[in-house]
Amino acid sequence: MNEISIPRPNNLDAYWMPFSNNRAFKQNPMMLARAKGMFYYTPEGREVIDGTAGLWCCNAGHGRTEITEAIQKQAAVMDYAPTFNMGHPIAFEAAARVAEMTPDGMDRVFFTNSGSESDDTALKIALAYQKAKGQSSRVRLIGRERGYHGVGFGGMSVGGIGGNRRQFGGQLPYVDHLPHTHGLKENFFAKGMPEHGAFLADKLEDLVALHGADTIAAVMVEPVSGSTGVLVPPVGYLKRLREICTKHGILLIFDEVITGFSRIGAPFGCERLEVIPDMITMAKGLTNAAVPMGAVAVMNEVYDTVVNNSPAGIELFHGYTYSGHPLAAAAAIASVDIHQKEDLAGRVRDIEPYWEQAAHSLKDAPNVVDIRNFGLIAGIELSSRPGAPGARAMDILRSCFDDGLLVRVTGDIIALSPPLIIEKPHVDRIFNTLGDALRKAA
Ligand code: PMP
Repeated sequence: MNEISIPRPNNLDAYWMPFSNNRAFKQNPMMLARAKGMFYYTPEGREVIDGTAGLWCCNAGHGRTEITEAIQKQAAVMDYAPTFNMGHPIAFEAAARVAEMTPDGMDRVFFTNSGSESDDTALKIALAYQKAKGQSSRVRLIGRERGYHGVGFGGMSVGGIGGNRRQFGGQLPYVDHLPHTHGLKENFFAKGMPEHGAFLADKLEDLVALHGADTIAAVMVEPVSGSTGVLVPPVGYLKRLREICTKHGILLIFDEVITGFSRIGAPFGCERLEVIPDMITMAKGLTNAAVPMGAVAVMNEVYDTVVNNSPAGIELFHGYTYSGHPLAAAAAIASVDIHQKEDLAGRVRDIEPYWEQAAHSLKDAPNVVDIRNFGLIAGIELSSRPGAPGARAMDILRSCFDDGLLVRVTGDIIALSPPLIIEKPHVDRIFNTLGDALRKAA
């Protein structure tokens, strides 16, 4: 128990919680009131180890004073400045610092406020790029089944999660999907990248044959799908996608909202995976989630094409009131500083073998049907209870929370993605608590 307690709210009705079972929540609310380093604390002060870095976002650990102080300092200097045809110094500095982390030749950064906005922004840039190249017929966007690209109409349409789409009627037209890469039995319990499945990238050739390359603007995928259950790309798969995109003049967009900011052992995942896309979308770790911010980094050629080939006037008719917000820019600079000074990507690579071994130690735990891992991510897939998909994992989440561990669930998959400052005893605590919960539930 920690001595500081924070009162629970009296009114649980006013706040409509996102992506939540609002009715169930009110019966037995799980709440977090404070956070520091690797830990959250409940309103009563009970310690909960953070197995998920918030939502894959507090990569440098909670409550980093470098970041909170940078935000406070900037708030006192200038709270806000308008964004259209008007600049403020810290946004330029933040863009240049983000570009230090992206691959060579990808030095142009467009700021947004979230992953969803970044994904929709990247899709719009792709369309503007093709148009600026004189290829106005390239309006088709290709995503992937089980892809998650946020909740805007662009990302939702290009994404491939039924539950996110079904409630909302029509989707964007001119969208198609590649198959996901998961489910090959020979890949079950693979450590790191699975061996089999590169051939699934060739489905893009089938879509090109179906629609015609001259109708396709871009392909968007997550290098490692996170929120749909940790789907690690098969060896050679992304390279093949890159080759097909290049061959047909299709832009390749990596949604690195999760894999960016050192999560899989490189500043951006593409470097570890040795496949460089034309654009990267990011959010989360960008500011360590201390304030909202997202961004799209684009290859210089993409920027130059849009900016130099557009008629006089505004080149990209897109942006947000809060693009490059001064407080978020300050947080981003402080976050980049931490990633560089503490070599968080190197830390991930150092601890990854230990993490991998600990994750796979649950292989024989009750109801476990698959385990997947890459960088500091792990997915533990459980068999579903007949007629109640997701219920088993939700029970495990609750049990872990009661025992002092925060996990995330998606369907019947338990996803883990701790802060990158994690040490071996934390790894032990996470997997011991989870293993106990699985055994107790059986
Ligand atoms: N893309 C990916 C890969 C994500 O994981 C997420 C969020 N989990 C998003 C986009 C959307 O980000 P946001 O919730 O900030 O809009």
